[in-house]
Amino acid sequence: MKILICNDDGFQAPGIVALYEALRTVAEVEVVAPEHNNSAKSNALTLNAPLYVHHAHNGFRYVNGTPADCVHIALTGLLGYRPDLVVSGINNGANMGDDTIYSGTVGAAMEGYLFGIPSIAFSQVDKGWGELEAAAATARRMVQDMQAQQLIGTAPWLLNVNIPNMPLSALKPVKLCRLGRRHAAEQAIQQQSPRGETMYWIGSAGAAKDDVEGTDFHATAHGHVSMTPLQVDLTDYDRLGYWAQMASKLTGPGASPGAEAGAQ
Ligand code: MN
Repeated sequence: MKILICNDDGFQAPGIVALYEALRTVAEVEVVAPEHNNSAKSNALTLNAPLYVHHAHNGFRYVNGTPADCVHIALTGLLGYRPDLVVSGINNGANMGDDTIYSGTVGAAMEGYLFGIPSIAFSQVDKGWGELEAAAATARRMVQDMQAQQLIGTAPWLLNVNIPNMPLSALKPVKLCRLGRRHAAEQAIQQQSPRGETMYWIGSAGAAKDDVEGTDFHATAHGHVSMTPLQVDLTDYDRLGYWAQMASKLTGPGASPGAEAGAQ
């Protein structure tokens, strides 16, 4: 089994080192990760600048780009082979609910998935790397179980996993979840710069709004490892019918000129 490892916290983050050390005992692993912290970079690709790959002393390769850049160039020339699995993380903090839209950790895994490779994003629920060894051991066991179930090397899938910061003995089993929802983020923080200009800092993510049983928030709050299968298609299938009616009433390129308000 060949595994490509990436993250969004940067190649020196304790989370990716722990994940590498755990997975290297059960697979051939290579790390291609961002040089600097790229949290909340989602699926961003760098199109207006060249990307450079450097080798770290521990064998990791690091790139002056985003998480998705790393996986993208790894799969389109850098590696020279196709990994069986792409694993991202372990992230410094939760990626639950709407976090998954912004997450660079999920973005890296999603890039693998878009290339047709099974991919997993791993995050620890709390920041600060508490109980990181337990999280890494959990990730290893999940990968091993998936290999035993012959889930790896088949059709592509994308999983989002959040692991509570607890000792291995206290962690409860993996629970399949849907994503919860957060409240909209906190207010932006305004400060004066030393030059007298107003600066804005993006506020922290909101608290959980939808955290009922069945969500990732609920499962992890009760000590479970949460696992959510993700898809990329953002189509709102439930409302396609509603919008079919609405769309017929909207003026479009095919509409008669008279239907346009203010038409001359
Ligand atoms: Mn991060």
